[in-house]
Amino acid sequence: MEENKCSFCGRSKSDVNLLVAGIDGHICDQCIEQAHGIVMEEVSFKNKNKLVKPLPLKSPKEIKQFLDDYIIGQDHAKKIMSVAVFNHYKRILNPTLDENEVEIDKSNVILVGETGSGKTLLAKTIARMLNVPFAIVDATVLTEAGYVGEDVESILTRLLQDANYDVELAEQGIVFIDEIDKIARKSDNPSITRDVSGEGVQQAMLKILEGTVVNVPPKGGRKHPDQKFVEVNTKDILFIAGGAFSGIERHIANRLNTHVIGFKNEENTKYSSELLNEVNAMDLKSFGLIPELIGRLPIIANLTPLDDVAMKRILTEPKNALIKQYEKLFELDGIKLKVEEDALNYIVEKADQLGLGARGLRSVTEEIFTDLMYTVDELPKEFILTRNEIEKQMKSTIVDKNLRKIG
Ligand code: ADP
Repeated sequence: MEENKCSFCGRSKSDVNLLVAGIDGHICDQCIEQAHGIVMEEVSFKNKNKLVKPLPLKSPKEIKQFLDDYIIGQDHAKKIMSVAVFNHYKRILNPTLDENEVEIDKSNVILVGETGSGKTLLAKTIARMLNVPFAIVDATVLTEAGYVGEDVESILTRLLQDANYDVELAEQGIVFIDEIDKIARKSDNPSITRDVSGEGVQQAMLKILEGTVVNVPPKGGRKHPDQKFVEVNTKDILFIAGGAFSGIERHIANRLNTHVIGFKNEENTKYSSELLNEVNAMDLKSFGLIPELIGRLPIIANLTPLDDVAMKRILTEPKNALIKQYEKLFELDGIKLKVEEDALNYIVEKADQLGLGARGLRSVTEEIFTDLMYTVDELPKEFILTRNEIEKQMKSTIVDKNLRKIG
């Protein structure tokens, strides 16, 4: 007698773990799993807001309030971002139909701020608020077409993946381009050091940022299994670029000095964070971004380095603050965790030494709490974490970014 086969993949009973019989056919365990995956993907996708349209658009103030729940400080950047996002989606919801009408320009944003100051978080939180697809791409892996590395078009592949390959949805998403400063050309004068790769990537990005139809390699979407390219129109995609631009203060200081020529003034003694507040397109240009690229990122916002007060607030205040997460984890083990004020100060001190902004908080807390969790069944029902306790726990295993021990 012929062996039963899976009606979907054709594998015979002896080649699979389980074959379920139906009225007219059979299905194997692997096909069931795959089908389950497809169903889950479709369901979760349908739950996403199809487009921004049905959402009543929040006002800039409401957007800022939403951001406040997740992002500590950075009021200036949050405000600029709220207005930019508000205008961007207003522009999408009211497309220009008539050629004679005033056309609203796209408001892509560039965020300037140290590592771990909240640039990515800002972009991510906006996408979460709007419930639109979101992708983070690292500018340093991008290359001009024809070179080894990822083509600029791959920026959109990620977005398409996050939109579950729904092109229409992807076309209203947000892309965060990280480390944009790393593709700066090395000199303001192109004829001195031609840093072709950086400049080439910047050139390649221009059209995408401005709005064009791009052929995007879908890379593995079930909806387009045989298609080599999917056409994605970038005209309504919001691009947010971010970079640390370390040393840009020097360019800002230079520029400001030319304004006050003839006076021996105190300008030079300005704190770098004060100078950063004045960052503008000219400084980005002298840093090495090409003017055309700057023109396509017309909104510039700077994020200030986080001081100790902000760092401490980040530990405890945001909706998903690290300490809140640990409290929850302990609670699940029936333990009430309380972290003393001085213990928080200590965590911030240690994180400061890492020089990674708020990103350092995660490494430090991870270290402390991993050890604590390991002994969770020995902890009392009410556990108070003190500075002393942490000092005992940490036993000099914290290292700085050059992997030197500092703890
Ligand atoms: P950047 O992109 O500027 O390098 P991130 O946004 O990736 O920094 O920040 C890293 C992490 O640090 C975030 O995931 C978040 O947990 C925390 N963080 C950074 N800045 C802030 C902030 N202003 N408010 C709250 N959390 C922050």
